[in-house]
This record gives sequence, structure tokens and C-alpha cells, in this order.
Amino acid sequence: MALLAELTHRCPLKCPYCSNPLELERASGELSSEDWFRVLDEASELGILQVHFSGGEPMARRDLPKLVAHATRLQLYTNIITSGVLLTDEAMAALLEAGVDHIQLSFQDVDPVMAEWIGGYAGGHAKKLLAAQRIKAAGLPLTTNFVIHRHNVDRVDAMIAMAHALGSSRVEIAHAQYYGWGLRNRAALLPTREQLDSATETVEGARDRLKGAMIIDYVVPDYFAARPKACMGGWANRFLNITPSGKVLPCHAAETLPGIDFPSVKSRSLGDIWSNSDAFNRYRGTDWMPALCKSCDRREIDWGGCRCQAFALAGDAATTDPACAKSPDHFLMAQAVEESRPDAEFVARGCMQVPRVSSDTIYVREF
Ligand code: SF4
Ligand code: SF4
Repeated sequence: MALLAELTHRCPLKCPYCSNPLELERASGELSSEDWFRVLDEASELGILQVHFSGGEPMARRDLPKLVAHATRLQLYTNIITSGVLLTDEAMAALLEAGVDHIQLSFQDVDPVMAEWIGGYAGGHAKKLLAAQRIKAAGLPLTTNFVIHRHNVDRVDAMIAMAHALGSSRVEIAHAQYYGWGLRNRAALLPTREQLDSATETVEGARDRLKGAMIIDYVVPDYFAARPKACMGGWANRFLNITPSGKVLPCHAAETLPGIDFPSVKSRSLGDIWSNSDAFNRYRGTDWMPALCKSCDRREIDWGGCRCQAFALAGDAATTDPACAKSPDHFLMAQAVEESRPDAEFVARGCMQVPRVSSDTIYVREF
């Protein structure tokens, strides 16, 4: 039903929780506009209803308005997932002209110093506030997104207030997910149980207070859960992801799994990949499941959890997600929480970063 079109891995920001892979795709390896036009045609034929243009930063692609216009002609619902720092008046006008339906704007924090420390982009916070105003002035629905981690989780109340003040119809308070750069930096980002409980209480209070005024989505980290999430609604069940170079994945982290040859839109049609590829059929449904999940009455509710998390933590993509309390590997989640530390260093996406030494001093060395 939904296609995540990762147009590029290029991004002016360097968030340490970025879900992009550690091996970032270069601009020279990206699909062309014509490739994307064909992919959108095939997506529409396949029954896809929504296209989420993402990245990296999708606005780093100059052809984004053309791609949105093509999707609009196909009557696909278009959403742009952006950091907002490139959303100038001109860019907004071009996207409106193209028929964009919705924009999701990410913020790193409410505190500009902390936001720019995490995002690694000076002046970014002010640009994002202007982007929010442009989206609202254009009459588009605005979703604001805050990724939560140890260093900003104590400001959830202020984040919700800011999202409301900006006129958001929806705010996502999403704890960092530990894939890609997030997994690399897990020890620096995982909150404590006390921080998580406090944030959850804050969100519940705000949901009551703002009922009917703003929807609050809340995503908690698996590391404190007893049951896994239905990752992507089940492997190859309702979602597909296309990487900047054209590989088709059942979820954005699937490339971390070894031994799977993910097909490319350059050599096969989207419909053929969806129905007939080994990559999409390998963990689809319940046949692949280990006995623990196969005999469990939640097998068609959570689909055994996340394959990428099972591999990343337990070393086996075909085992029960360690987030499940029934899994023999469940102790790994508690172990990771214990190993997280307030002073742990993190690596910014695509960079080597030395930790902050005062509230306004950071050192970043690109490689
Ligand atoms: S998470 Fe940060 S670095 Fe990654 S694409 Fe989004 S804004 Fe860019
Ligand atoms: S045993 Fe498998 S199906 Fe059952 S709750 Fe755990 S992960 Fe889900």
C-alpha cells in the first residue's frame, strides 16, 4: 500500500540516529528521474496508494517537484519527509505547483543549541521553524517529527507544545530506532527506564489535553518491551522501500541482512519483485517462523517482530525477535540498556565526531 522512495542518501544534517545504512550511496549511484517515473508508474499499477519521498534529504534532489508531479498525475498520495533546511519559498512554491499533499518536518529538539549539536548543522533550527511557517501558509497539513533519545527525552512536553504552536495536525514523538547509525550509536542514545516512563506519562497527559486539536503518535523503543512490534506490518505485507540506487527492500534496514540478493528496479519490474522474488518471499507470512512463533497466538499480530533486529542482536534473521520476552535472546535487550551511558561518545552520520565539550562547542571532522 505504501512506497518509501529513498531518493538520495545526501543530507546536510548528520543525525547520529539516522536509519540510513553505514555505507551511504553516492550521488553518482542514484536512480535518474526517468527511472523514478517508471517506478512510480509500476507502483501505481501494483496498487500502491501512497508515496513517501524520503532520503537522506529528498529536497537535495533538484527533480523532486517533477517526481511529485508525476506521482500526482497517477493519483498517488504524496508525502515529503524532510529536515526542512532546504525548504525555501521557491522550493515550497514548486512543490505546491506539483501537487504535493503533505509534508512531514523533522526537528532534532526544541533547544536550538542541542538541536544543532545532534543534527550537526549550524542554523538549522531557525530554518526548520521558517519551513513550518511556509508549509502552514501554503495550506498543507503539517506533521512534525521529533526523534527522542537520552539527550532530549526530558523535553517531550516542550516538543509537543512547540508542535501545537506551529499548527501541526499531527506530531510524532518517536524514540530512536536502533538500525543503521542508530545501532552504531546505541550506547549514547538509549534512554533510561525512568526517562522512558516519564516521557510516556507526558505523552499520555498531552493526548488527553489536546484531544481533537492535534494527534500525537508515540513510538517506544523495543528495548523496554515484552513483545515486539509488527515490524513494517509484517515482512513484505503492505510496504516496500526503494533505495537511492534502485534496490527494492521490504524495510529500510533489510540491506543489513546477509545472504539476500535484493533485486533492483533496473532489472525487474516492481510487480515481479513483490510477487516472485526470494527477498520478498523469504520471511513473508508464517511458514518461515521458528517453532516458538509458529505455535504462538500472536504470530499474525506481530509476525515474529523484526528480522533486522533478530539478526543485529541474535545473529540470526530467522529467529524470534529478541524484543519478545519469550525469546531466549531477550536478555540482550536489557544488557544493551545497562550498557548505555550518559557520557558515551557518538559518531555523527558520515562523520567522526568528538563529544560536545560545552553547550556551544563541538568538533566535527568529515572523512
Ligand atoms: S535522520 Fe538526520 S541525517 Fe538522517 S536523513 Fe534525516 S535529517 Fe538527514
Ligand atoms: S513468540 Fe513470536 S509470535 Fe509470539 S509474541 Fe513472541 S515474537 Fe510474537
